[in-house]
Amino acid sequence: MARLFEYQGKEFLKEMGIPIPQGEVVSTAQEAREVAAKMGKPVAVKAQVWVGGRGLAGGVRLADTPVEAEKVASEILGMKIKGFEVRELLIEEKLDIDKEFYVGVFPDGSWTARCPVFIFSTHGGKNIESIPEDQIFRCNLDYLRGLPYYDALGLVSEAGLPNELLREMAGVISKVVETFKKCDCSILEINPLVVTKEGKVIAADCRMGVDDSASYRHPEMHIDIPREFPWEPSEFDIVGWGIEETDLRGSGFVMKMTLDETSPGYIGFHAIGGGAAMIGIDALSRVGLKAANFADTSGNPVASKVYRVAKTILAQPNIEGYLLAGFMVANQEQWHHAHALVKVLREELPLRPGFPCVLLLAGNKEKESLEILNLGLEGLPGRIEIYGREHVEDSDFIGNRMVALVEEYKKEKAG
Ligand code: GDP
Ligand code: MN
Repeated sequence: MARLFEYQGKEFLKEMGIPIPQGEVVSTAQEAREVAAKMGKPVAVKAQVWVGGRGLAGGVRLADTPVEAEKVASEILGMKIKGFEVRELLIEEKLDIDKEFYVGVFPDGSWTARCPVFIFSTHGGKNIESIPEDQIFRCNLDYLRGLPYYDALGLVSEAGLPNELLREMAGVISKVVETFKKCDCSILEINPLVVTKEGKVIAADCRMGVDDSASYRHPEMHIDIPREFPWEPSEFDIVGWGIEETDLRGSGFVMKMTLDETSPGYIGFHAIGGGAAMIGIDALSRVGLKAANFADTSGNPVASKVYRVAKTILAQPNIEGYLLAGFMVANQEQWHHAHALVKVLREELPLRPGFPCVLLLAGNKEKESLEILNLGLEGLPGRIEIYGREHVEDSDFIGNRMVALVEEYKKEKAG
């Protein structure tokens, strides 16, 4: 699921006719002051990051004057919230909040639903998990039908809203469901949807995630990589996504696993298949090593695609070894992997003599693949060990070989 920033999500809400606070995005404290001065009223300064709970983390603050807005902005910019660095702020008019509501639409894949569910609560402004179950109102949605106004009206009156709010609230939540559909969302959460002291319903927050497979239909969303990320994608991730985006033959998924590039024990990790990847990461962890990245080349990718993945993995600056974790007897023809690795390692190993490489590969065309590897890598100045099906279930053995080679290599480098 690709995530959008609050300010992007709010633009879509606005297009659908849902009221949002007046606001502007800035990336410096000085701009924050200018925007606050231009608005001429107290503002909320809000960190734009892909996670919720910003309020508690100090990423949402109020400022009564432009000078105060500048000060608060300078404190929030550069902050890290759950791994995401704050680079942009949304400066919004401060709302005079009377009451906060929770509104969310999510897909529910369980067999009792298998559809999007709509969730509403009069106890908004906090985490949905902390709202008591009897204060949550939900209904399963028919995707094509959405949540028509009269259904919405029934829902909000069941939730016990005062009469004077019913119509406006029903109109807004019906449009929230329309936005969910129009934007191909996998999640749309407005928490809080507020009622101001003047009785206006306004979306004070917006968390929007978009279905990866639908993101191509939305160039206006500027989604660089249609995937969920635990932090802002790195240059490595963007290069990795480029491999998938430009070559659909088999999968070549590559992604960073750490923000900590400097501590010892990181291995360039390359699995063949998702199950093999889990076994491989376990094998590394058990011997005190860590995967610097995640990678999976499976579904019968061609050698050129595997080559690009392995080349990208080896470009990570601080890795102490490379593991090809083929922990399964694969039915894809493994010689494409063998050819790719011969090319990559012949290019890379002369530049890093003694570099540890443990290559495990099993399955279709295994004998030929091992022959290609053994022949092609002969005489290279690395610590290369090549294994086939006799070790495919032996993750302790592979982990131990990896750590033994890493130790040797480190000793050699130290001195
Ligand atoms: P989150 O913590 O990441 O969900 O960020 P929110 O945008 O939901 O902000 C957290 C809380 O700050 C909200 O629940 C509101 O109570 C409060 N808040 C956000 N924007 C405003 C605003 O414009 N005015 C006021 N008074 N409170 C706000
Ligand atoms: Mn919120």
